[in-house]
Amino acid sequence: MTSSLERSSHTRATTAAAVKADHLTKHFGELEVLKGVSLEVTEGTVTSIIGASGSGKSTLLRCMNLLERPDQGKLRIADETIRFTRNPQGDIIGLDRHQLQRLRAKVTMVFQQFNLWPHLTVLGNVIEAPMRVKGLSRKRAIALGKHYLERVGMADRHDAYPAFLSGGQQQRVAIARALAMEPRLLLFDEPTSALDPERVNEVLGVIRGLADEGRTMLLVTHEMHFAREVSDQLVYLDQGRIAASGPPEDVFDDPRCRQFMAPAA
Ligand code: ADP
Ligand code: MG
Repeated sequence: MTSSLERSSHTRATTAAAVKADHLTKHFGELEVLKGVSLEVTEGTVTSIIGASGSGKSTLLRCMNLLERPDQGKLRIADETIRFTRNPQGDIIGLDRHQLQRLRAKVTMVFQQFNLWPHLTVLGNVIEAPMRVKGLSRKRAIALGKHYLERVGMADRHDAYPAFLSGGQQQRVAIARALAMEPRLLLFDEPTSALDPERVNEVLGVIRGLADEGRTMLLVTHEMHFAREVSDQLVYLDQGRIAASGPPEDVFDDPRCRQFMAPAA
């Protein structure tokens, strides 16, 4: 009891940023996909990103765990700051392999298409990164993996291969895999978009539970009701720029955001 009280006072009462992006820009060739995005995710809170297809949501998320490297700007993850610049040859400088690996362990991602390794069992998928990236023993990784599989309701399928699972089950395993790294920030890129409608709720239920636990999360979603319900902060991304951000009810009321949502209504 004491520890959960401590956790909640630690997570909700402080304004410490788990992650802070500062004027991130990203080009793919001539195309400027992120045009100076600044975004802060406070420890213990949930931020959802909404926006049209092609507005740069996935790119922004991928920059947050350095699957993509921003061209310019700053990114602070926990207590580590990375400044992105290019040398005269155009190479991005300021990040070595060790730093990259350390930062990726702090920010883990759940993808739309689950991306489980097909040749590994459920448990094999979950223990791989804790062993390889964090150097945990197999025994410790298994204990941790089983704990998180339990958390997402998949412990009884630990020796199954992904192909034998439904989409919703695969996504829950992917969530356990991301949790097993015990990250500071969890990223979700449209985690329910590839699911059959009857499977959506089982995954949203897991994410809602993680929000209730005070996990720090950044989520791209088209599930507007869900975003409104779980988010402390909502960000509307429009053509590589944040057009509106703040408490969900304010952002949904913003005329630019209303215009974006109107066709779907
Ligand atoms: P969203 O997730 O909001 O749909 P994305 O971040 O996936 O948007 O894409 C934003 C823009 O960047 C799109 O025009 C897309 O085609 C382009 N893009 C994304 N990834 C790449 C890439 N690896 N190479 C070239 N263009 C890309
Ligand atoms: Mg996307």
